[in-house]
Amino acid sequence: MLTLYVEGSRWRAHLGEVVAANPGLVPVVKGNGYGLGLDRLAEAATELGTETVATGTYAEVATVAEAFPGAVQVLSPWRPWDASWVAEQVPYGERLTHTVGRVEDLSALADAARTGGRGTEPRVVLELLTSMRRHGFTAGGLRDAATQLDGLAVQGFALHLPIRQGGHLEEVEQLLSVVVASGIPSRRIYASHLTRADLTRLRTAYADFELRPRVGTALWLGDREALQVRATVEDVHEVERGDAYGYRGRTAPRRGHVLVVSGGTTHGVGLEAPSSGATGRARAARLVRGGLEAAGYVRSPFAVDGKRQLFAEPPHMQVSMLFVPSGVTVPQVGEEIDVQVRFTTTSFDRTVLG
Ligand SMILES: *Cc1c(COP(=O)(O)O)cnc(C)c1O
Repeated sequence: MLTLYVEGSRWRAHLGEVVAANPGLVPVVKGNGYGLGLDRLAEAATELGTETVATGTYAEVATVAEAFPGAVQVLSPWRPWDASWVAEQVPYGERLTHTVGRVEDLSALADAARTGGRGTEPRVVLELLTSMRRHGFTAGGLRDAATQLDGLAVQGFALHLPIRQGGHLEEVEQLLSVVVASGIPSRRIYASHLTRADLTRLRTAYADFELRPRVGTALWLGDREALQVRATVEDVHEVERGDAYGYRGRTAPRRGHVLVVSGGTTHGVGLEAPSSGATGRARAARLVRGGLEAAGYVRSPFAVDGKRQLFAEPPHMQVSMLFVPSGVTVPQVGEEIDVQVRFTTTSFDRTVLG
C-alpha cells in the first residue's frame, strides 16, 4: 500500500494562511489534484470560501463543481474541436468561465453557445501571450479581439507567466498597458506564477486593477511537512552474493536483502536514470566511491534506515524490488518506509487525513 498521510490541522492551517495573505486567490484544482485528489481539493476550497477555483480541463469540471459551489474557471483555452465543454456548459453555465486565446475562437464560442448551450452568454477570460508562449492573444490580437466580443461576457484577463525567481514586474507592466490599449473595460487580471513581492508592488502601482493570483503548488503542497508518503514493505528476502532474483535474472552483487515494497509504475514510481546529472566528473566520483551505482544500480526514492536504497531492478507495475546491502537494518514485513514522490505524478492507494 502506498499511502499519503496528511496532517489535517497543519495542512488546513497552511491553506488558511496562504488564502488570507493573497486576497482574491483562485485555487487551481487540476490533474491528479496535486496527489490529493480533485474532490478533496474542491472540498478544501469550499471550506476556504474562495469565490472561484480553476480546473485544467473541461473534463475536470464536473468533479470539481459537484464539491465546490462557486465559479469554475477552465485554464485550457476553449477550442472548437473539443466538444466536451458543451456537457459542462449546460449544467454549470452560470458558474463556468472559459479561457479564450485566439480571435477566431471568440465568435466560434459565442455561436456554439447560441446553438448548443442554454442561451446564457458564455463567461470568458481573455488570455494574453506571455514570454512563456503557451497560449493567448498578442497585443495586436487583443485589439482585434476587442471587436469580436458580441455574445460573450468578459470576466477579465489571464496571464500565465513562466516560473522564475526574481519576478516578472516589467513583463506584467507591459501586458497591463496592452490591456488598457485594447479598450476592453475590464481591469481584472488572473495571474499565474506572480511572486508575492510582484503582486504587492503591482497592487500599489496599479490600484485600478484587480489582481487575482491562481495558485496550485504553493497552496496545496506549500507545507511539505504536513504531507508524508509511506510504502508498505510487502516482503523481505535474505540473499547471498550471486543469488538470482527478479524478472531479469540479475544476481545479488553482495550479501544483503531484497525488499519488495509497494509502489510501482502504476503509482508513478519511476526510475531516475543513474546518469541523472552525471557529468564526467560526477561519474568519475561515483566510480571512485566504487558503489553499486557505478555497477548500474539506480537509487530509488524508498528510504530504509534513513538512507535512500537502490532499486534491485526497474520498478514493477505495483511494487518495486530494492537491494539493501548487509549492514543496513531492514524493516519487518508489514512495516512502512518513507518514499520521496513527485505529488503531481503519483497515484496513492489511499490518503489518510489525520
Ligand atoms: C497549473 C497552472 C497553474 C497552477 O500552477 P502551480 O505552479 O501549481 O501553482 C496556474 N495557471 C495555469 C494556467 C496553470 O496551467
